[in-house]
Amino acid sequence: MNIKVIAFDADDTLWVNEPYFRASEERFCELLGEYASQHELERELFKIEIENLALYGYGIKGFVLSMIETALKVSGNTITPDIIEKITDLGKQMLNQPIEILDGVEQVLQAVKDKYRVVVATKGDLLDQERKLKRSGLGDYFHHIEIMSEKDDANYLKLLKHLDIKPEEFLMIGNSLKSDILPVLNIGGHGVHVPYHITWAHEQIEDSIDNERFRSVERITEILNYL
Ligand SMILES: [Mg+2]
Repeated sequence: MNIKVIAFDADDTLWVNEPYFRASEERFCELLGEYASQHELERELFKIEIENLALYGYGIKGFVLSMIETALKVSGNTITPDIIEKITDLGKQMLNQPIEILDGVEQVLQAVKDKYRVVVATKGDLLDQERKLKRSGLGDYFHHIEIMSEKDDANYLKLLKHLDIKPEEFLMIGNSLKSDILPVLNIGGHGVHVPYHITWAHEQIEDSIDNERFRSVERITEILNYL
């Protein structure tokens, strides 16, 4: 491998994220428990979130709006304002959540920072991701932060152009096969999958990947064996 740039996904790769969404979703289901079962509420919320993705993009603010929309729908527009307040409070709690850096991350960043250009490539809300990076204390490791509306082939190609490197010089590390790995392999880059124990349904894929530029590791520190 002739890698020049290593890009890290942020949520559930550098720090904990998905469990906070799941916890808020659970709390949301409790709030709306008189209108529908947990299963029905989760299904409806997921459907509305996906429908809204193109409008709101990824992140907590869109999630809050989708929770309110779901609450109105399942209650036939009868929820009281205090439920809406509780939903917006859930969102604010998520936005103010302390950053919990995942095991091994600092060790890896420390080991690669002088040998490679190290960047972050993440989806989500610009302000929220910038704030998380700042609060994580990891900001100084990175040469560049790319906040992408969608992690698809075209946006990765744009990133490579910005970094002025060839696809084979790019290595992406992340927890989502769908967003962090498949598009990068598609454009000729390298991908290392570091699974996280919870994955949002929207990020799950059925296929297994067979590609010489792909590896899966159990712990992020195993990446150091290949660099
Ligand atoms: Mg992620």
